[in-house]
Amino acid sequence: MENTQSSPLLPEMNPVWQQTLGWQPTKEQNDLFERLYEGILSGNRQLNLTRISVLEEFWEKHLWDSLRGVAPLLTSMSSSPRVIDIGTGAGFPGLPVAIAIPQSHLTLLDSTRKKINFLQTLIRELGINNAEAIVGRAEAIGQQPQHRYTYDIALVRAVASASVCAEYALPLLKTGGLAVVYRGYWSEEEKDALTGVVEQLGGVIESIEKFTTPLSNSIRHCLYLRLISPTPAKFPRPVGVPAKQPL
Ligand code: SAH
Repeated sequence: MENTQSSPLLPEMNPVWQQTLGWQPTKEQNDLFERLYEGILSGNRQLNLTRISVLEEFWEKHLWDSLRGVAPLLTSMSSSPRVIDIGTGAGFPGLPVAIAIPQSHLTLLDSTRKKINFLQTLIRELGINNAEAIVGRAEAIGQQPQHRYTYDIALVRAVASASVCAEYALPLLKTGGLAVVYRGYWSEEEKDALTGVVEQLGGVIESIEKFTTPLSNSIRHCLYLRLISPTPAKFPRPVGVPAKQPL
């Protein structure tokens, strides 16, 4: 209750959205963001999903950061991308993307059943009809025909090292599809190692963007990996192998 009517924070952030991403949420989208925040808070009390408990912090780390990674899509209305969020946890970055880009279709994947149960309830309660939450391991669904080579975009935030994220994400993309790997710190040395890994998977590093977050000025990076030819059948390797023996 405490945040439903009384908090003016989210609408007040619209100029910041506009300045930083050239986009701003409608009133309906801000209402959904607020209900998402409340849903996460109440889920947290039971499940300890994420440490975030202040609305400002939620806005920056969960809403703004999630959408910064897909900024170009926010303003291009033409396509209806199929998007998978690998290791979505409490629904990030996937749920803000589903709310902000209504023409997209989101598959939220996590290996933890209790997180997916929570998300299925939350999606239903919020009436988000362009997202579904499924339990599974990225290595397993990457070998299933209903998922392999079928997505336009794969999002991965805070799941594993960049090369492990690449092995999870690229097999799920169609040729021409894009993986967005969200990172905090990033260095040139890491880029050299990742270049060879992405090549083995049929992709290229298209760009690496460095930016600072608008409230706390924290450094972030997004790695954009483009699939240019189908990933060889041997990838992803069996469950657990990518993390134990990174490429
Ligand atoms: N992306 C979210 C959550 C990060 S925590 C965020 O940024 O807030 C990492 C999540 O990835 C956990 O929920 C964990 O269950 C999931 N995960 C880790 N390895 C995975 C795998 N191989 N396949 C699917 N989910 C995985």
